Amino acid sequence: MVDLTGTVRSRAFAGALERSGPVGEATPERIRAVGLHAYFGRTHAVRGVSLGVQTNRITAIIGPSGCGKSTVLRCLNRMHELVPGARMEGQVLLDNEDIYAGEMDPVMIRRRVGMVFQRATPFPTMSIYDNVAAGLRLNGVRDRRTLDDVVEHSLRQAALWDEVKDVLGRPGTSLSGGQQQRLCIARALAVQPEVLLMDEPASALDPASTLKIEGLARILRDQLTIVLVTHNADLFTRPRDPRTEDYITGRFG
Ligand code: ADP
Repeated sequence: MVDLTGTVRSRAFAGALERSGPVGEATPERIRAVGLHAYFGRTHAVRGVSLGVQTNRITAIIGPSGCGKSTVLRCLNRMHELVPGARMEGQVLLDNEDIYAGEMDPVMIRRRVGMVFQRATPFPTMSIYDNVAAGLRLNGVRDRRTLDDVVEHSLRQAALWDEVKDVLGRPGTSLSGGQQQRLCIARALAVQPEVLLMDEPASALDPASTLKIEGLARILRDQLTIVLVTHNADLFTRPRDPRTEDYITGRFG
């Protein structure tokens, strides 16, 4: 991992992907992680990682399997601590606030920093509609009109609405793998997160579905902030940070 000031920390790399604005244009920093260490029991999985994540950008974490990419991601929304025996050290600032400070509610942090996993995980007993509405219902929203609006908006954001609008009552698990992953993205978007963490979201998908997820990430970047764990170096064909290309081509890292 490299922090954006250039300190080599381990064998992974975080850099921002190509961006919509003119080269050199900076957006406000949404997340800053400083000196992250993560442990699973006695296993020291992440050692002193620091990184910055800019608003309305896709920041990618790349590196070999097992180097700690997913663990770093889960430290950014307090999911790491859900693993029995896991703990972390260091600081994660979301909009300059320490998400690990005593008064911070981890449930609220996970709502502000949503997550999409490697394998699509629709709630198996729920319809397409109920999958997307689940987070809102947990937050106490009962008004049918509000739920309808949010479900439609989220499915449109996830580029799935046209494919499912006539079958919203069908089980989420009846969809194809790629559709299920977009359903999970819609579910994450429904609670209006500021940041979306995506852990190799296309690794279990066919090439066409992968392209859809990549295209979707580029569109969503304009509305929120994305941190993406990926093996797919193709995503870096237009990297913003020259060190990204150096890493992929083996000159660095
Ligand atoms: P990556 O995402 O780069 O493949 P991970 O973050 O999944 O790497 O894993 C980093 C290290 O932590 C690996 O050595 C892995 O075996 C270990 N690890 C990950 N999850 C757990 C867990 N739940 N319990 C124990 N060790 C784990």
